[in-house]
Amino acid sequence: MSEHQETLAPQKERTQEIIRRLKELYPDARCSLHFTNPLELLVATILSAQCTDERVNRVTATLFQKYRTAQDYLSVPLEELEEDIRPTGFYKNKARTLRRCCQALVEHHGGQVPADMASLVKLSGIGRKTANVVLGNAFHRAEGIVVDTHVKRLAGRLGLSGQTDPEKIEADLMRLVPQEEWVRFAHLLIYHGRQICGARKPKCAECVLADLCPSAQEEEKRFS
Ligand code: SF4
Repeated sequence: MSEHQETLAPQKERTQEIIRRLKELYPDARCSLHFTNPLELLVATILSAQCTDERVNRVTATLFQKYRTAQDYLSVPLEELEEDIRPTGFYKNKARTLRRCCQALVEHHGGQVPADMASLVKLSGIGRKTANVVLGNAFHRAEGIVVDTHVKRLAGRLGLSGQTDPEKIEADLMRLVPQEEWVRFAHLLIYHGRQICGARKPKCAECVLADLCPSAQEEEKRFS
């Protein structure tokens, strides 16, 4: 075992325990966006920026009846697509991203969503977060860990990463979390972030991770 691996060992053990407890608490933790194929998940993930998953699901319930292929997003006037996704907010930007993304799918991937990180992040407006969501949940491939606002906040509070840049946080988490748990781990932190470790007032007194969390007392004091 290298010196670096040795220093990581206690952190890895603590991370395993965090995962064990969260799995017990949220046995059904999974992606809350509704989709039936990779294209739908890609679209839903683009629409979920600055929007709740519930609202996205309400919009996509009808959207996906009308737009079934990547080409469908290119076949309507831009204004019509904007109107169809308007309730998700930032609809002008999102419509442009959808168009550019679907254009690339049609031109370079036969209209299909590619199943690898390198090709996904080359699509317009797609970063590692969206790519990880699609790879992990539509293709069941763990190439990285989704770092959204909840994962970012909890990784910091739980002392799993001291970084602020999502890609650096992801790299820290990939060192600590076993690869077979990468997809589930993000869901677990997202569930915990929504239910207990909220941005404004974490409920440390109710938290099953309190004895493992370096921020427990600090956060309680700050918000009491
Ligand atoms: S102890 Fe508090 S800060 Fe730590 S994970 Fe739980 S709710 Fe969040």
